[in-house]
Amino acid sequence: MILNMLPLLFPGTLNGINGLLAGKGARMQPRMQVLQGDITTLEVDVIVNAANSSLLGGGGVDGAIHRAAGPALLDACRQVRQQQGECPPGHAVITAAGNLKAKAVIHTVGPVWRGGEENEARLLEDAYRNSLLLAEANSYTSIAFPAISTGVYGYPKAAAAEIAVNTVAAHLIRRPQLQQVIFVCFDDEMTQLYQRLLTQHIQ
Ligand code: ADP
Repeated sequence: MILNMLPLLFPGTLNGINGLLAGKGARMQPRMQVLQGDITTLEVDVIVNAANSSLLGGGGVDGAIHRAAGPALLDACRQVRQQQGECPPGHAVITAAGNLKAKAVIHTVGPVWRGGEENEARLLEDAYRNSLLLAEANSYTSIAFPAISTGVYGYPKAAAAEIAVNTVAAHLIRRPQLQQVIFVCFDDEMTQLYQRLLTQHIQ
């Protein structure tokens, strides 16, 4: 169930108009949005799964996505594994979406937080960027991300949210294809973090 929709509009800076708004004239929409709720319910082209390297399912958002998608998703992940092996941190793979309303699932692996000196920030950036590139390569225009690595993998929430927003914003400014990127937050704390970051980002 979607609990709360918090779209944030960008004011009229040149970069904002050209890079971070979609549509024309009065119908312009923010390309980055924050939503609080369950990512599995979204009707977007792609939802991103915070997977583990095995690609064979796990807890947290990974478990929720597999439960909602049904066994077809696990079969698809097994096939990818057979072809490509494990998915290292920072990389992403795409599968069909089983019973989900989304058209595809991109499985990306965030870094496990080990104190910050083990390349975690770069790997988290890579996870977001490679997911965006893979969605574009498959001609999709809307994508929803969970807060990758901020659950069991232990990445500090504020730092992870900052990387998520900065990486996506830098990508969207340069590339027009993706019209909608939704950051899906599970709890109030994360929602407020993202909301604040998006607001700061445009000032
Ligand atoms: P990781 O192993 O990458 O840390 P987790 O699944 O443990 O992944 O957590 C990632 C984030 O996803 C956490 O902020 C968690 O609260 C959130 N989350 C868990 N279930 C859902 C869901 N159904 N929809 C959206 N976000 C979720």
